[in-house]
Amino acid sequence: MKFQNTLQFAQQLDKEDTLHSYQNDFHFPVVNGKKSIYLCGNSLGLQPKQTKGYVDDVMQDWASLAVEGHFYAEKPWWDYHERLAEPLAKIVGAKTNEVSVMNTLTVNLHLLMVSFYNPTKKRFKIICEEKAFPSDQYMLQSQLRFHGFTEEDALVEVKKREGENFWRTEDVVAKINEVGEELALVLIGGVNYYNGQVFNMEEITRAGKSVGANVGWDLAHAAGNIEMQLHDWDVDFAAWCSYKYMNSGPGNASGVFINEKHLNNPDIPRFEGWWGTKKETRFLMKPEFEPMENADAWQLSNPPVLSVAPYLASLQLFNAVGMEKIVAKRNRIVSYLEFVLQEVDKEVTSSFEIITPEDRGTQLSVLLHGQGRPLFDYLMKNGVILDWREPNVIRVAPAPLYCSYEDVFSFGQILKEGIIHLTS
Ligand SMILES: *Cc1c(COP(=O)(O)O)cnc(C)c1O
Repeated sequence: MKFQNTLQFAQQLDKEDTLHSYQNDFHFPVVNGKKSIYLCGNSLGLQPKQTKGYVDDVMQDWASLAVEGHFYAEKPWWDYHERLAEPLAKIVGAKTNEVSVMNTLTVNLHLLMVSFYNPTKKRFKIICEEKAFPSDQYMLQSQLRFHGFTEEDALVEVKKREGENFWRTEDVVAKINEVGEELALVLIGGVNYYNGQVFNMEEITRAGKSVGANVGWDLAHAAGNIEMQLHDWDVDFAAWCSYKYMNSGPGNASGVFINEKHLNNPDIPRFEGWWGTKKETRFLMKPEFEPMENADAWQLSNPPVLSVAPYLASLQLFNAVGMEKIVAKRNRIVSYLEFVLQEVDKEVTSSFEIITPEDRGTQLSVLLHGQGRPLFDYLMKNGVILDWREPNVIRVAPAPLYCSYEDVFSFGQILKEGIIHLTS
């Protein structure tokens, strides 16, 4: 399709968009008395209007039932989290028994490393991407120290090539083969937070498995953004937060995937707690741990219901639409965003460059050459909410469930005005 950088054209695309009306299901921040253009769903997704009802129900049950709410609330609290496994499994391409919701992302990655990073003298190295998300770097560094290794000995980072802004799959695979029998674990962010690149998870997982390593993915920027087939790709484990594309609210509960083949395997170490024991015998308060037969065996505590309820509300919305439609709109709206940026770039010379490669999801990362921070501040003041990453990148993410083509067009206009304003 041939795009046009006009309001009329953007509005026409909105008319043809079957997801257009879903924006009415979300709360938008208001800036200068106007609904903002929200392009920051990669950092914190908007609040679905129905979420409050799910939270209010818990508050109401707590008020009226107190402890009885564990078993007699309309959605009893003791197994509240189990309601999320099935809808969530659909989103990440897993079987229902492979998915659980618990804790928060970095906590879960640590817990999963207890199970899937068991270094020996011979096989102890970890491969990750260079400049991984800081929390992942700290997590890996501290895990290595905990096992008596140093970063220098055991952490292998896959680098981008000189002059390039993205990782090449063949370089990741080559590094995996090079480390070979010393490789214990591959752990990479499936969608890179900085440049928006989607890694070829299927091929990289295959390469990792072929040298005998475990392969896990941090899916913080992938869940709800791209389609995945974690089970079919033979991924060992994965974890993601729920507050970015999954619209579940700040710091709320995280999802985990543990491949079915690792369930019910007593040889896999695990940190355990009472919510990982079989439901049937949990309240007999026995000293023996009898693991749940699904990914819930990794559960520690009784579920943080107020943190899980918004996730359930959001999953309801996601599944009402389905990832297929979300991805179809995403492809089109991101292409339109790219087009609009290129048009603006033609009108104002040498202003910025898109560093996101073709393998991408909802986010385009834009490297600003001229005006950096002042341009970002201008956008924010003028009703465009997006985010800034040092030294000079703005990340622009038109989430398909609630962003419109008109938003993208208007963003382009405000960006152009900002550049002209700041250079004149
Ligand atoms: C957002 C993000 C996190 C955040 O971790 P929390 O434990 O939820 O604070 C971790 N890793 C990646 C790659 C992220 O993008």
